[in-house]
Amino acid sequence: MSNANSILKEHNLKSTESRLTILAIFKKNMHALSYNDIESLLTVKLDRVTVYRTLKSFEENGLIHQIYDGSAQVKYALCHTGSCSSDQHKDSHAHFRCDKCDKTFCLSDVITPMADLPEGYQSKSQSVFIQGICKVCNHYKN
Ligand SMILES: [Zn+2]
Ligand SMILES: [Zn+2]
Ligand SMILES: [Zn+2]
Repeated sequence: MSNANSILKEHNLKSTESRLTILAIFKKNMHALSYNDIESLLTVKLDRVTVYRTLKSFEENGLIHQIYDGSAQVKYALCHTGSCSSDQHKDSHAHFRCDKCDKTFCLSDVITPMADLPEGYQSKSQSVFIQGICKVCNHYKN
C-alpha cells in the first residue's frame, strides 16, 4: 500500500502535518467519520478551521467523499483507490449503517446500478443506503 505522502501527491496535495494526521485517521478506521469523530481521534492538536479546510481539500481532490447517513453530521470516508479525481467523484457503491454500533461503512464492492429515470430527469448522483447489522456486530469471522 502506498504511503501517506505519495497518496497526497497522487491527489495533487502538498504534505502538511494536518493532512498527514487526518489521512492517517481515515486509514486506521474502516468506517466513515464525522467531524466530531475526527476531532476525538486527533493525535496532534489542530484547530477547527484547519480540520475543516483539510477535509475540504481532501474532498475537492478526490481523496474522500461525503456520506449522508441520516445522522445529524455529514460523514466522510476514503474514496476507493484511483476511482475519483479532482473534477469527479465516482463513488457509486452502497453504504451501510449498523443499527448496533451506529457506524457507517462503504461497501466498495457493492456497485449500485444507475436507476432508470423517467424522461426529462437528469441524475447527478445517487446513493443506496442499507441499514442493518454489520459483520463485526454479527460476530462474522472470515
Ligand atoms: Zn470519491
Ligand atoms: Zn456494527
Ligand atoms: Zn463510500
